[in-house]
Amino acid sequence: MLKTIKKVGVLTSGGDSPGMNAAIRSVVRTCAYHNVLCVGIYRGYQGMIEGDFIEMGARSVHNIINKGGTILKSARSKEFMTPEGRKKAYDHLVKAEVDALVVIGGDGSFTGAEVFNKEYGFPVMGIPGTIDNDIFGTSHTLGYDTALNTVVECIDKIRDTASSHNRLFFVEVMGRDAGHIALNAGIGGGAEEILIPEEDLGLERLLESLKKSKASGKSSSIVVIAEGDKIGKNVFELKDYVEANLPEYEIRVSVLGHMQRGGAPSCYDRVLASRLGVKAVESLLEGKSNLMVGMINDKVALTPLEQAIKGHTEIDRELLRVSDIMSI
Ligand code: ATP
Repeated sequence: MLKTIKKVGVLTSGGDSPGMNAAIRSVVRTCAYHNVLCVGIYRGYQGMIEGDFIEMGARSVHNIINKGGTILKSARSKEFMTPEGRKKAYDHLVKAEVDALVVIGGDGSFTGAEVFNKEYGFPVMGIPGTIDNDIFGTSHTLGYDTALNTVVECIDKIRDTASSHNRLFFVEVMGRDAGHIALNAGIGGGAEEILIPEEDLGLERLLESLKKSKASGKSSSIVVIAEGDKIGKNVFELKDYVEANLPEYEIRVSVLGHMQRGGAPSCYDRVLASRLGVKAVESLLEGKSNLMVGMINDKVALTPLEQAIKGHTEIDRELLRVSDIMSI
């Protein structure tokens, strides 16, 4: 027989992303709505191991829907990767009478949740929180839309300088394994070329494209490069290479870095967080476990954690074509 869930624990783990606070708020308020207690767990799995918990009621999450980061703090915990660490975490949950867990994080955090569920049969539900949008089973992860808007805003500002000085700018954005941010923000920011990990466009092609754009009368350009692009050179090496081959260009590099992870969540991310939080808690109350809540075709949908972890997200190849056409 299923154990009735009377208390739900919620934690944020891995890299933070805008919208995590809105998701915590949603989990807490959905629990309150269903007369279920809710406990916040600080610093992800590390706080679980140390029993760093706080009771959370509906009012404890006021004024956080608009805040970036996570009020529960996030952490990476090596100790949780050991059976001894997980045993400590389990003992703390039992002591605090927590019956189920909502984990807001990326695929590493979901792996931890899955291992924990296998070991202790503990009900777990995942909410995808990462700006990279690289989790299978959802069209959008929490923070992705906000990060896109942040990057586009930065590109707009860089463009002002690029066009005033007739310069070429290389803008590096986050995305070691996935080019979603580069591709979408590149198109949104009107980039000349976009380099992503999924596709090796090749150095020759980049040079050709830059030559063509000079010849067509463009006086300034922006190239958006994902951290993990396939060319295999970092953005500064790439600058040196292009300058050596096209001396007519003076290139500036801008690495956007961690600013992409911060800031107030966009409206889309706030709504997404609210919807996913409701579904996560209600699914646990229905006796479901080991699943991730996500958006598929604009509907909230459940995907087994295992698939969410192992599955790969694909970039939309149509966007590559659109980008090509736009940079004529
Ligand atoms: P991001 O996308 O920002 O990297 P993430 O959730 O993938 O977020 P990770 O650092 O990979 O971030 O994982 C977060 C935490 O999940 C780890 O610090 C660890 O505590 C736990 N975890 C990851 N893999 C495992 C595993 N195989 N077994 C147990 N716990 C794990």
